[in-house]
Amino acid sequence: MIKVTDNSKDGIYSSNMELIDNFTDYSSKNLDFNKPVEVEFLDDEDNAKNPLGTTAHYNPDNLKITIYVTGRHLKDILRSMSHELIHHVQNCRGDLGGRDTELGYAQDDKHMRGMEHEAYTMGNIMNFRDFEDNYKKKVFKESLAFDNLNNYRKNILNNKFKKLVENIER
Ligand SMILES: [Zn+2]
Repeated sequence: MIKVTDNSKDGIYSSNMELIDNFTDYSSKNLDFNKPVEVEFLDDEDNAKNPLGTTAHYNPDNLKITIYVTGRHLKDILRSMSHELIHHVQNCRGDLGGRDTELGYAQDDKHMRGMEHEAYTMGNIMNFRDFEDNYKKKVFKESLAFDNLNNYRKNILNNKFKKLVENIER
């Protein structure tokens, strides 16, 4: 289960609920984790000004992902969430136990470098990209169905109108 807590000033969750819910549902089905995880959206103005500021963080002790959303595109936010969710998967699997995730871990610790590699390929590329493509296909299909329904309605109206004209002409 992925629980979203929105503490961002713009209410990033409430204004994008449909897409974010679709993404958390997709990730819950697609990723292998057996403990619930909390995702918190937060603002951090100072951090946002720093080009290499922290965009997100996973805390293996309280099973919580924090995502800094200030000035970011939703797609980038979801990609970040996807990446951190892989760290949650790794934690549930017992792969993060007691490891240092302070600055430098991705270079110094071989095991953690592997974890980071997995989070990038599985999170940023596989999970997110697959979700995005699936979602677009779904929305496209729904819009096709909507167009078909509209055409059907238009035809009914046209036929009614034609009959009306025929009756007047008689
Ligand atoms: Zn990472």
